[in-house]
Amino acid sequence: MTTETMTLGYARMGKHREIKKALEAFWHGGLETDTLLATVQEIEAHGWKTQLDAGIDRIAVGDQTLYDQGLDWAIRLGLIPDRFQGLNSLDRYFAMARGKDGIPALEMTKWFDTNYHYLVPEIEVAIAPQADFRDFLETVQQSQAVLADRATPVVLSPVTLLSLSRRDSSVDLIKDLAQLLPLYRELLTQLKALGITEVQIHDPILVTSSASSLQAAVTQTYQQLAAVGLPIHLATYFDDLGDVYGWVTQLPVAGISLDFTRGNNLELVKNHGFPEDKTLGAGLVDGRNIWKIRPDHGLATLKELQSIAPDLRVQPSASLQFVPHDAALETQLPAPLRGVLSFAEQKLGEVTFLARTLNGKDTTPQQAQMQQQWRAFEQFNPPNPVVQNALKKLTVQDFQRSLSHSLRLDQQVQLPPLPTTTIGSFPQTPEVRQLRVRYKKGELSPADYQAAIDAHIADCIKVQEEIGLDVLVHGEFERTDMVEYFGQQLDGFAFTKNGWVQSYGSRCVRPPIIYGDVSRPQPMTVREFGVAQSLTQKPVKGMLTAPITILNWSFPRADISRRDQAFQIALALRQEIADLGAAGAQIIQVDEPALREGLPLKVQRWSEYLSWAVDAFRLATAIAQPQIQIHTHMCYCEFGDIIKDIERLDADVISIENSRSNNRTLQEVTAAGYAHQIGNGIYDIHSPVIPTTEQLVQQLQVGMQNLPLKQLWVNPDCGLKTRRWEEVVPALKNMVAATKALREDISV
Ligand code: GLN
Ligand code: ZN
Repeated sequence: MTTETMTLGYARMGKHREIKKALEAFWHGGLETDTLLATVQEIEAHGWKTQLDAGIDRIAVGDQTLYDQGLDWAIRLGLIPDRFQGLNSLDRYFAMARGKDGIPALEMTKWFDTNYHYLVPEIEVAIAPQADFRDFLETVQQSQAVLADRATPVVLSPVTLLSLSRRDSSVDLIKDLAQLLPLYRELLTQLKALGITEVQIHDPILVTSSASSLQAAVTQTYQQLAAVGLPIHLATYFDDLGDVYGWVTQLPVAGISLDFTRGNNLELVKNHGFPEDKTLGAGLVDGRNIWKIRPDHGLATLKELQSIAPDLRVQPSASLQFVPHDAALETQLPAPLRGVLSFAEQKLGEVTFLARTLNGKDTTPQQAQMQQQWRAFEQFNPPNPVVQNALKKLTVQDFQRSLSHSLRLDQQVQLPPLPTTTIGSFPQTPEVRQLRVRYKKGELSPADYQAAIDAHIADCIKVQEEIGLDVLVHGEFERTDMVEYFGQQLDGFAFTKNGWVQSYGSRCVRPPIIYGDVSRPQPMTVREFGVAQSLTQKPVKGMLTAPITILNWSFPRADISRRDQAFQIALALRQEIADLGAAGAQIIQVDEPALREGLPLKVQRWSEYLSWAVDAFRLATAIAQPQIQIHTHMCYCEFGDIIKDIERLDADVISIENSRSNNRTLQEVTAAGYAHQIGNGIYDIHSPVIPTTEQLVQQLQVGMQNLPLKQLWVNPDCGLKTRRWEEVVPALKNMVAATKALREDISV
């Protein structure tokens, strides 16, 4: 049987972020609607053409979006919350995405364990779902004109959609599903009428721990949809099917895609077999990382699979929206590194290479070339013996501070009750950003650049003293980004020029690439800390980003475990913490906002992950003398369920988001009997609204009702870099005033 090739979605921002630029120009009134839509169509069509030219047999279509596919499907299904009624078409679309005139947008959250954010559909009891698939069907027709039979529409499964929605949890999911299924049937009927020969239904919820409770809903869905008579390819990705493998593979669908780059799908297929009457979509090319395949490894797996499931397709493991467009654009990178990078375009070539080889074509020259590229890379990037040795020699003591929290507290900096501080960054004004750009372009000498940064630090210290904060920060003016800044100073990291991936809407990120053993050639933050501390009697916090956040917001290596990479980063940070301590830092904050989002999709794998993730934090920080107070910061995470692991970080103080979660986080922490200190984020820095002293007093009182006074700190809920000084100064003044008012109450 001939092995075909397939995709599950394509990179969608444009090689030069054309969609980002068009969207932002449109929002600022500088672009007509037609031009915006034409740009999106052009990028989409370019993606089709690229996949067609690469020779992909089944090309995913309809995955492009103006902002987000969660929003697209919510709108197509008429799931439009009441507050947006009265608005129409694009106006409504962007209101739901970004809010408008005080109408809050849909909530945004991470798409499974990726760094992509989707908009959370809201299922209101009063909404009667109502279909409007015109935009989707039009796109499908356009794609047919280019791709003919290869066009394979991508539809988001109603079960995944409902599972990810905000809905009244007392209503049975099956009940909501019953409202949606007729609409989905209508859609499939229309696709069939257009001459479509297969539809992909994406159901990633099936790889999560919720899957086992969804059997009835999923079975009902595929039974009803299969009845339409359009062959369905059920796509899963991001992890294996685990416990639900048995019944999922029995669903009435024509094919199933499995991810063979994450989890244990290979074992499952080997142990349980795969139904003869179904196509297996073998996701062998990692859709979420940027490394070229090792040809021998890929081919071996493929042959193994073929012996079990002869009707096979080769494909990326997920949509290629999670990788940048084209590694060939990265001409500034050393050739041996570029040789082993694979972005969306290169991945298409890998998919067809694997299929051609399996189909008996002679691909030996290509295989030899890939092997040669990997050899060249290994020569260019040998292991670092110092790092390797350090890792081997780790002992239990390396993860353990010399005194326990309760014993070391007395030795640490003494502060008034309810100490006030901020999370680290202060406004990144256009002037500050200009400074970094000019320095990067070589228009400023290092000395001039540092002098300019130091002037900002000096201003920032002065402002904080005037406001009356107890613990100061230097302001992070030298940092573009909390991960990039460290990556750029560490060995083992590379940076792309065009390696953008969509984060949400028009926002793109350019994740650093970890390619080699990580080490720290020299101190990274000590100079700026020293400048700041020299200007004040108050303690200034040293400010670092923790290992898991650096790891999760980068493209990791594929040849060593994530744990080992986290430990390497931790060792580099450990040296930095030692240096900060030697430079006189009394407090060091190590931000770990990504800890929770790194949790595996299957709950049974949490403890394994948390074990090394928390160890990495401890490895970095345990070097600190007992006198040094270690802080950490986490934003927007609900962590009631991992509170014991948070405790095991052994940070002396943790600052958390609290204002937006209505104190839920605080209550969870309290309920769990958390014994360390907590900076209870008392106002939302994402809003331009300046909180009043009275509001802040109230927030503080909530904190005091929940936790003993000696455990409480006072701070905003995240860094202030996105705010303006005119907002920051009065807000912080009110925060200090509120704190002082309460301190007086206490002392009476
Ligand atoms: N220290 C960082 C800042 O203030 C923390 C950022 C974050 O939590 N995402 O900007
Ligand atoms: Zn934060």
